[in-house]
Amino acid sequence: MKKALSIILVVTMMMFVLAACGSKESSGDGKNGYVGIAMPTKSSERWVHDGDNMVKEFEALGYKTDLQYAEDVVENQVSQIENMITKGVDVLVVASIDGEALTDVLSKANDEKIKVIAYDRLIKNTEHVEYYATFDNFKVGVQQGSYIEEKLGLKDGKGPFNIELFAGSPDDNNAYFFFDGAMSILEPYIKSGKLVVKSGQTSFEQAATLRWDGATAQSRMDNLLSAKYASERVDAVLSPYDGISIGIISSLKGIGYGSASQPLPIITGQDAELASVKSIIAGEQTQTVFKDTRELAKKAVEMADAVLKGKKPEVNDTKTYDNGKKVVPSYLLEPVSVDIENYKSVLVDGGYWTEKDLK
Ligand code: BGC
Repeated sequence: MKKALSIILVVTMMMFVLAACGSKESSGDGKNGYVGIAMPTKSSERWVHDGDNMVKEFEALGYKTDLQYAEDVVENQVSQIENMITKGVDVLVVASIDGEALTDVLSKANDEKIKVIAYDRLIKNTEHVEYYATFDNFKVGVQQGSYIEEKLGLKDGKGPFNIELFAGSPDDNNAYFFFDGAMSILEPYIKSGKLVVKSGQTSFEQAATLRWDGATAQSRMDNLLSAKYASERVDAVLSPYDGISIGIISSLKGIGYGSASQPLPIITGQDAELASVKSIIAGEQTQTVFKDTRELAKKAVEMADAVLKGKKPEVNDTKTYDNGKKVVPSYLLEPVSVDIENYKSVLVDGGYWTEKDLK
């Protein structure tokens, strides 16, 4: 009796944990194989789209899927992958939370001859990753930096302007590429004095935002504003991701930015998340970088399918993504800079968001 009760308790708890983490087993017949899809978090829409799109594509090719979200907790993701290995998946598609935390679990996958595709984020310090599907991450940063350059008229010699810099999570390899790409454009202006970072915080480490958390960014912005901008205006903020941009905007509005006499600075972003596209339409956030998760899902599915069939998938970069153990053959998709001028043609005509979504 006691044993039965504790089994019920354990099963209930497992169901609760799985529900909380957003696990989903597909109904596909799986005649071609079984795919484990490990995604970082449901708290950002893009990963929800990525997961759903992959499930759709895999099912259409006759695969069964196990899609799991780890709510940005590294240990959750490791145990979800361990679970997938136990369940006998044939291939893993992983968007890591901490790119350096999967070495052991992927070596277990390798023991079971399970192949691994890195999704969007590079998995580091392991030989056991076959291919990498992502976007041109350096270019994402270049598009953010170039947007600021253009809107401030820096090329025409305007300035000096005040700017503050935000970067993404230090455990995500992409964050360095975004920051380096943006700084490849902005740094010369910082050196020449046309851009002034009043906080002096210009290194990646100083600008980084653990787990891409909007609230963390908001409180850093609060601190920067109260310490450095009591009597001066901030003209631009480099933000690597929409969730961070929303935090920065809240901070700015909290001290009066966003009115005719004190307009918001130029604020970049990434992912074309619904709240940020609405914010762009409302004239608050200025720009975002759209990365079509439908295309990325297709690429990753092609890679997994090829690997399982013993074929070579198409790649277009075999140099950039050194994970410390090997250069991972990659396919880089093109990001698109989006603002008030082109959001309709890119996002609405492209079927990513409907007019109704954006109301
Ligand atoms: C992704 C971005 C995303 C960020 C936060 C990065 O690895 O490439 O698209 O904005 O993570 O989720």
